[in-house]
Amino acid sequence: MPEYSIRESKRAKHVSLHMSARDGLVLVAPHGFDHSQIPNILKRKQSWIENAYRRIEQQGNTIKPKPVDSLPERIFLQAVNEEFLLEYKPLATHWVEAAENGNNTILVSGAINKHTLCKTVLQKWVNYKAKKYLIPWLKKVSEEIDLPFSRSTIRNQRLRWGSCSKQKNISINQKLLFFPEHLVRYIFIHELCHTVHLNHSVAFWAFVGQKEPNFKQLRKETRTAWKYIPDWSND
Ligand SMILES: [Zn+2]
Repeated sequence: MPEYSIRESKRAKHVSLHMSARDGLVLVAPHGFDHSQIPNILKRKQSWIENAYRRIEQQGNTIKPKPVDSLPERIFLQAVNEEFLLEYKPLATHWVEAAENGNNTILVSGAINKHTLCKTVLQKWVNYKAKKYLIPWLKKVSEEIDLPFSRSTIRNQRLRWGSCSKQKNISINQKLLFFPEHLVRYIFIHELCHTVHLNHSVAFWAFVGQKEPNFKQLRKETRTAWKYIPDWSND
């Protein structure tokens, strides 16, 4: 049987299969679904699954192994070229705390056997770093290409790298900190261009081209940029 993961969804009416380079094979099933049906479903869908694997490999991707429930030993914020080593210290508490220790070390202490808690705390730490680095950086690019915005916020979205509203409010995904610098810059330019064109029309892309002539290549790179994102940083 191929490797797969299951996502139960309240909205799903029947079982469906999804394949992506990031998540591998995912079976989305209605709540309370009878798992003993899975081998039959996978057998019936075998040729679909094989084709989907082939398609992803032809795109030059490899399927990532299923996310393991492990905590990072180091965190590399590629965008700002900072690397941190993690130390975990168990304490008899119900909470978890993360603190930078100087020397680029982060001490995670508390109920560290609760991995979900640790991940939440580390995601909050990334959020703090994103506010510190990404917001001023966005402002700098905005001034450079002469496209002002109203407000900016940092979020931890799963599928979007950024967004821009009609009111010219820009939200930035904190996970951009894991990207190479040039991709962050491209995403900033992309979102800032939405302050003029809210859609992805021909006019929008022409405008992006004025601000960043290499946008086609950069846009292509963002499609596989999930590979920079460590599993623990996703909600
Ligand atoms: Zn866009």
